[in-house]
Amino acid sequence: YTDTTRELLLSRIKDVQDYPKPGVVFKDITPLLADPEAFTALTDALAELCVKHGATKIVGLEARGFILAAPVAVRAGLGFIPVRKAGKLPGATLSQAYELEYGTAEIEVHAEDLNAGDRVIVIDDVLATGGTAGAALELIRRAGAEVAGVAVLMELGFLGGRAKLEPALRGAPLDTL
Ligand code: AMP
Repeated sequence: YTDTTRELLLSRIKDVQDYPKPGVVFKDITPLLADPEAFTALTDALAELCVKHGATKIVGLEARGFILAAPVAVRAGLGFIPVRKAGKLPGATLSQAYELEYGTAEIEVHAEDLNAGDRVIVIDDVLATGGTAGAALELIRRAGAEVAGVAVLMELGFLGGRAKLEPALRGAPLDTL
């Protein structure tokens, strides 16, 4: 992962002011996804991290995490496991609630998808407050699997997500491209 790749990725992320509500700067990755060179570079960089951290399975967080994690799983030769918003998975699930700015949210995973012996990397586009990633780490551990790390394209440093996620990581790496 070189500075040139980093510059390429940065150049393909669009800041959208006041979306989805006033005061929020939304990090739009659709220009990156539409550029095969950038999307391939991102996929390669994330797949490299999965190999480096000895991952055996890849969790993608709904919805943009799915788009990033699926090609990484194929590239790394690992299984892709969706962590979805509550009520979307048809089989027996584990659920985890977490705090939002206003109220709570809940995410789920198919219980049979993660097991003892699995080393799991969580992939998403943006780490904001860290709430979603933290809940995903809980799900992974409750399923009996091990956390190999969290890898995101961007981290919104001013929201303090890294510090909030730290206890849940229990020493596992958080990589931001
Ligand atoms: P959080 O649980 O606060 O870390 O929020 C993470 C989720 O919200 C991720 O799945 C992101 O895709 C999304 N998200 C939060 N803030 C932004 C933002 N400013 N731009 C784009 N996506 C965001």
